[in-house]
Amino acid sequence: MAVSAYDPQNIFAKILRGEIPCNKVFEDDHVLAFHDIAPQAPTHILVIPKGAYTSYDDFAANASDAEIIAYTRAIGKIAAAAGVVEDGYRLIANTRDHGRQDVPHLHVHIIGGKKLGLMLPKD
Ligand code: 5GP
Repeated sequence: MAVSAYDPQNIFAKILRGEIPCNKVFEDDHVLAFHDIAPQAPTHILVIPKGAYTSYDDFAANASDAEIIAYTRAIGKIAAAAGVVEDGYRLIANTRDHGRQDVPHLHVHIIGGKKLGLMLPKD
């Protein structure tokens, strides 16, 4: 099955264009991070690349080295700034249908601030 093309009308593309507000926690040339609108833990931050990438595999294959370095470093910096590094946290990148990705623009969830449940609940 072919992988879908990037949809420029997805909600994170609208946030990047400033058409929808977000509660921003970090921004640089390649990366934007903001609080999730429906947090599932005391810390729940979404980190997105500014480029039009649907998923981590798309990003890894097609992003420039500068974008990949910026994104990787930003996730670490944002976790540290959020104060979750010492106690620990979880990174999640839901991907497509089986991964239950709702927004088709690459995003990593940084989730922490409490002891989290099991990684995969039973269906
Ligand atoms: P996914 O299920 O694609 O991994 O996660 C999408 C996340 O985006 C969800 O946790 C959802 O709460 C969040 N979200 C959806 N729409 C918005 C929005 O307009 N603003 C923000 N800040 N988060 C959103």
